[in-house]
This record gives sequence, structure tokens and C-alpha cells, in this order.
Amino acid sequence: MPCELCPRRCMADRQSGNAGFCRAGRLPRVFRWGPHFGEEPPICGDGGSGAVFFSRCTMKCIYCQNSPWSWRGEGRDVSEDELAAIFRDLAVRRRCANWNLVSPTPYLPQIRAAVRPLLAEGIRLPFVFNSSGYERPETLSEYRDLCDIALIDLRYSSNATALAASSAPGYVEAARASVKHLWNTLGPLDSDDPGRATRGVIVRLLVLPGHADEAIESLAWLAAECSPSVHVSVMSQYAPAFIASERPPFDRVVTEDEYERVADAAADFGFERGWVQGFGSRDASSDLVGENMASGEGAVGLRGCD
Ligand code: SF4
Repeated sequence: MPCELCPRRCMADRQSGNAGFCRAGRLPRVFRWGPHFGEEPPICGDGGSGAVFFSRCTMKCIYCQNSPWSWRGEGRDVSEDELAAIFRDLAVRRRCANWNLVSPTPYLPQIRAAVRPLLAEGIRLPFVFNSSGYERPETLSEYRDLCDIALIDLRYSSNATALAASSAPGYVEAARASVKHLWNTLGPLDSDDPGRATRGVIVRLLVLPGHADEAIESLAWLAAECSPSVHVSVMSQYAPAFIASERPPFDRVVTEDEYERVADAAADFGFERGWVQGFGSRDASSDLVGENMASGEGAVGLRGCD
């Protein structure tokens, strides 16, 4: 079947060994898997998020921190049975909070086939759909059974920047349509008693050097077209990885002024739920600030909203 899972719609016949833009093959390729503590607190829970990092990617970001497996395809091809064993281990032995599918789009049919026998046995965790935002709403709708929680980026609000930095034509329309679709389908973040997310949407905004205004535009769009009640995660961790050192302004970290403008804009647009990473943090897990400013329970408050 010709592949049109992502907005590129290469129509590559991957089952016959032909690769499309992302170079994903017939079998899912996994770089790493295991409990992961680098996500937002309700995604990690106490036992960690059961992350499966898939190789290959539908974007080609010049600053990619995962280039060994996203660009170069490092990892191992796994059969449906092997992928099922990974999901089983994360749920049964590791007792993770969820199945966190990191960049899963090229492999959604294989993931669905792998989890089917587990679901039949009654083994099930919430699925986290962990994505750059470069998605098709049609694909998200077709594979809605693999998305209980959307952990999704709004990376750009300019297609010119998306093309230059990620080789992703039409990113803005694709990501916004996908976020809106997910918001309309899943709604606000819901958690169970220990505070682990069970359903809903988290939108991530990675502040990029020289492009803070784009993150602010994304926040404005999100507030107007979805709702200020969306959980947002404002991230300062950008580092000029991979080939970004040769591509100004992506060759530097964000300044404190750039970052503060985005964090302040989140509060100004009325976002009250989510996280603002401490400035200067280079590790997503290290210091996401998220006290509950509003009610003392449930959702956490954005820094500066108290
Ligand atoms: S998932 Fe890969 S092969 Fe399929 S349409 Fe997208 S880039 Fe092309």
C-alpha cells in the first residue's frame, strides 16, 4: 500500500522495499526503549514513561538531538512479535505509566498489529503519541486507538523557517490542523489519582534562537483556535546540535530575553496549565517548573500565573 501516513504523502511502496523521504522500511525500527523520566511529570509518573524511540523521522531538523537514529537510521528492525514483547515488558515488568510512542508515524500500522494480542489479553496502558506536530489529521483519525494522550509540538509559525530548519513544507498548516483535531478529539489533560495522565493534550513549544516570535505566534493561535485551557510546555532546552552550528541563528542557545518573552506571552494569553522549563536547562527532565498555583490539585500552574 503506498505510504501517505505523514503530510509528505510520498506514496512509497514500503512493503516492496521502496523507501520514501523518511527512509522507513517495511518493519518498524527501534533505537531504544525503556522507562523514561524526561517528559512532563504526569507523563512520567513514578515508574517512568514506557518510551519506545522509533528510528527515522518525517522531519529533518538541522538541530536534531537524535540524529543518529532519526537521520541516520541507527536501531534495529523488529518483528511484530518483538515489538509486542517490548510493549509487554514496559507494561508488565517495568510497570510504566504509559506506552510512549516517540516519532511513531511511519510505523503506525505495525504498532497497531503488535499491540493487538496484548489488548486481547487485557494488557493495556494509555498511549502517548509523541510527535513533532508534522502530522495529517486523517492519519491521526485513522489511528486514534493509538493516541490517548497527545504530546505534540508547535515548532514553527512560519513555513519558510520550517522548510529551512526541518525540510518540512507546509508544517504550519499541518501542525495546526493536527493540534486542533487532537484538541477536539481528546480535550484537556485528564489524570488518575496518583496524577498520571490518562487522556488529553499537551502542546510543547521549544523556543528556537532568533525565532521566539514564532513561538509567541503559536501561543496566540493556540489560545484563539483551541483554548487557553490547553496544557502547554514551554521549553528552553534548545542546543545547537547536529549541523546547527553551521546555520545561524540556530548555532546558539536561546537568550534569556527570548525565553522570557515566550514565557510571559503564555501567561498573557491566559494559559494557566502546564510547565515552564527553568531557563538554561538543557535536560527536559531537570527542572520543569509546575506548581499548582490555581486550585491545589490536578493541573499545575504556569510560572508567573500566581
Ligand atoms: S511516513 Fe515516510 S514514507 Fe510515509 S509518507 Fe511520510 S515520509 Fe513518506
